[in-house]
Amino acid sequence: MVNHVKDIEAIDQTDDPYLLLPTNHMEPVQLPASQVPRYQSWGRYPKVKEGLVEPVFWRGEIPDLSEIDKTVLPFGYGRSYGDSCLNEGGLVLDTTFLRRFIAFDDEAGVLRCEAGVSLAEVLALIVPRGWFVPVTPGTKFVSVAGAIANDIHGKNHHHAGTFGCHVTQFELLRSNGERLLCSPTENADLFRATIGGLGLTGVILWAEFKLKKIANPFIAMERIRYRSLDEFFEINAQSDHDFEYTVSWMDCLIGGQHMGRGLYWRGNHATAEQGASRRLRKKPRLRVPFDFPSQLLNTLTNRMFNEAVYRSQLTRKIQAISSYDDFFYPLDVILDWNRAYGKQGFLQYQCVVPKDDNYRALKEILAQMRRTGEGSFVVVFKTFGEIKSPGMLSFPRPGATLAVDFSYKGKKTLKFLDTLDQIVRESGGRVGCNLMEKTIQTRIIRRFSAR
Ligand SMILES: Cc1cc2nc3c(=O)[nH]c(=O)nc-3n(C[C@H](O)[C@H](O)[C@H](O)COP(=O)(O)OP(=O)(O)OC[C@H]3O[C@@H](n4cnc5c(N)ncnc54)[C@H](O)[C@@H]3O)c2cc1C
Repeated sequence: MVNHVKDIEAIDQTDDPYLLLPTNHMEPVQLPASQVPRYQSWGRYPKVKEGLVEPVFWRGEIPDLSEIDKTVLPFGYGRSYGDSCLNEGGLVLDTTFLRRFIAFDDEAGVLRCEAGVSLAEVLALIVPRGWFVPVTPGTKFVSVAGAIANDIHGKNHHHAGTFGCHVTQFELLRSNGERLLCSPTENADLFRATIGGLGLTGVILWAEFKLKKIANPFIAMERIRYRSLDEFFEINAQSDHDFEYTVSWMDCLIGGQHMGRGLYWRGNHATAEQGASRRLRKKPRLRVPFDFPSQLLNTLTNRMFNEAVYRSQLTRKIQAISSYDDFFYPLDVILDWNRAYGKQGFLQYQCVVPKDDNYRALKEILAQMRRTGEGSFVVVFKTFGEIKSPGMLSFPRPGATLAVDFSYKGKKTLKFLDTLDQIVRESGGRVGCNLMEKTIQTRIIRRFSAR
């Protein structure tokens, strides 16, 4: 199977990102039938078969959606988990060929581009010119429209809110063929419903968003080893004000006084002095060449891996000036890393729980994982700040948020996640939308009712 995402991964291999523009992006490429990708989400679960796929090459040549008797869902780079980008039996509109930049105000830091431009391509254009994306997820291989539709959050939620907070306008194609300009002042309800709306309000054709000024491509970062949840919250409270970016990896399988131990990253964009005379170095890419056997990731190997990661840092704190790629996208150097979970795939469980009762719900979730041995080494733990998104259905809200990748082991996994759901629900928290939610209706109901 050939995946068209690979050609956006090639973006880093060029020496001069300026060369990528405009020619590489002006003419979309028609893939031969043998190379048409299979449409799947990053977790490769659930496995569904779409009814029809329609690649979109030009903004002006979108099929008449009112003529189509199937459900329609736009697709980006399939970097979302669960089924939010899948449309079983329906029509998938692949918008990743809409990859043209439209306008870039280098003075004000405002970029307008087509829906399928990836953040990797945006960064290749803007970083050498002293700008950065306002919010980024843990991979840069996502489309701008995907970033809006999932209203992505990054390590700077406490400073910048979600991606949607920085979107100034976009054009939306509705299923009746209408094309609407949406902004905080024009078609404002649709603007708010589309941010975090999972592609259910229409197809974003292009979008405009604000950028962040930077002095260079480096991050002045620190990594701190912490021994317990209490220590995490202490470090986090100290860091929130002084550091724009904060995030941690947590050992979710250890209990007792070390429950929640891990490694904490914090950083700021480097100043001109800190970045002086440094050069970006390209890192070789690795690839997971085949699906690993599903038994490879089990409680024992997860525990061993967690121990090794925790002990990999010998001193309590390290400080460094790192490239933005190393800081934000460590997993992007391993292509196809989702194959490490085997053919059956995996689910990402993400929740946010309030501070109530000293994070009782969080402790309960970790205790459940330890007790059952259900856990993972891919764990992201951070806090969300107070900044509200314009998105009606946005996931983030103040509290601590935990994201854990679970190998899919059949009903047992789903049952376990139901247990976690219940703990989160009772705490007044919220579960991310990336789980298997079989129908669009359920998804909407869940997200609305959780609000
Ligand atoms: C390694 C990794 C790290 C991640 N880290 C984070 C993180 O830190 N924070 C975070 O928030 N997310 C994170 N994610 C999730 C990812 O950022 C989002 O799922 C993102 O939406 C994926 O974008 P995509 O282009 O691949 O879209 P897809 O996965 O293809 O689609 C996602 C949604 O966008 C909709 N969509 C796509 N194109 C359009 C369009 N043109 N118009 C309207 N709707 C459209 C789809 O219908 C679907 O509902 C991570 C994912 C990975 C793999």
